Amino acid sequence: MPRTKSELFSSTADWLRYDKEHVWHPYSSMSAPQSTVPILRADGFELELFDGRKLVDGMSSWWAAIHGYNVPELNAAINEQVGQVSHVMFGGLTHKPAIGLAKRLIELTAEPLQQVFFSDSGSVSVEVAIKMALQFWFAQGKTARRRLLTVRCGYHGDTFGAMSVSDPVSGMHSMFSGNLSPQIFAEAPRPLGDSESDSSANPVDDFERLIRQHSDELAAVIIEPMVQGAGGMRFYDAAYLKQVRALCDETGILLILDEIATGFGRTGTLFAYEQADIAPDILCLGKALTGGYMTLAATLTTRHVARMIDGEGQGVFMHGPTFMGNPLACSVANATIDLLLASPWQQRVSAIESQLTKELAPCLQSSKVRDVRTKGAIGVVELFEPVDMPSLQPRLVELGVWLRPFGRLIYIMPPYIVSPSALSKLTAAVITVVGEMD
Ligand SMILES: *Cc1c(COP(=O)(O)O)cnc(C)c1O
Repeated sequence: MPRTKSELFSSTADWLRYDKEHVWHPYSSMSAPQSTVPILRADGFELELFDGRKLVDGMSSWWAAIHGYNVPELNAAINEQVGQVSHVMFGGLTHKPAIGLAKRLIELTAEPLQQVFFSDSGSVSVEVAIKMALQFWFAQGKTARRRLLTVRCGYHGDTFGAMSVSDPVSGMHSMFSGNLSPQIFAEAPRPLGDSESDSSANPVDDFERLIRQHSDELAAVIIEPMVQGAGGMRFYDAAYLKQVRALCDETGILLILDEIATGFGRTGTLFAYEQADIAPDILCLGKALTGGYMTLAATLTTRHVARMIDGEGQGVFMHGPTFMGNPLACSVANATIDLLLASPWQQRVSAIESQLTKELAPCLQSSKVRDVRTKGAIGVVELFEPVDMPSLQPRLVELGVWLRPFGRLIYIMPPYIVSPSALSKLTAAVITVVGEMD
């Protein structure tokens, strides 16, 4: 084992060979690995490859890099914090980055949300939310209330609690079914503009039936507001979400909203739940929280829920990650939020929406395309058949764009700072690859 500071490998091919043989990528096989694209640096809305080629980023690194890459304000925040303190345990200690972030989040989110729990990733923030809901009832002696109600086509993360409320088919349930808490699934909300589904049934009927039937054993409802992300990039109506809130109020069941993907402007409002004019009892935030710089998530709840969990000083909330409230992550989150609020993000997101709507529309002419839809800075082309990734991914790179289709979906969700011409390059690439399928 050579222990020198020189480069480990002499060629790009050698780096990539080692990657293929030893490094797992998301949802990948070590024996039949997919090809990977080597990134040297990233700047603005562009990713630069080892060989100097540049790709327009159409993914924001999975909803996270809303300001793009190598952002001076974010670099400065993190550099400054490194010189102060990079990390200290949060047990018994505290610091300005975490307190400042809590204040920002409390001021930006719905008024009832007053307590913040920081964790390291979206999935963990969902575990924390579920645990809050369970402890809320357990502290009142209602130990039968341990199940969650959710809707199909949802995605809430890859840890066990999060998997248990993700779609039973696409959420890997079948493989782990013996290990997952059995939760309750209502029909998915009807996608907006979907002509193929039965429009005579009220889509919230199934949800209403289940919440009433199981009200004695339910701790909480969990749902992604307005947009179901990784479960199918489905957009649904604010009226559905309003009814979910009303039914939770009526039955006294807590409502957890998972804004990990939708938070921080992606759907056109700062938080998607604003479009339904409701507030959750528990809110999960992640992804764009640090502008894609560091891994960080937050779970917010109300004073009422927190007081119940504490049982008037008798109990404690049972969670405490090692890297809780990491100062580097909190400092860059503070800078991201300040940068977002100082920017014309609403105009940017709505300009992206108009451009995506206009430029993706021609895809509908293809016999391979089932639906084209946009919401905020998200554009989706849904096909009838799953895409062939081994051929499609290199073709997209050849066209100068970074897009990562999955299943039957090719979708674009660029950093908000994308230029109109760069966005056109993304939409043109989608039209090209769809055209090549005919
Ligand atoms: C990505 C995502 C998660 C999981 O977050 P991780 O940081 O990947 O653990 C949970 N919920 C939603 C809606 C997401 O999009």
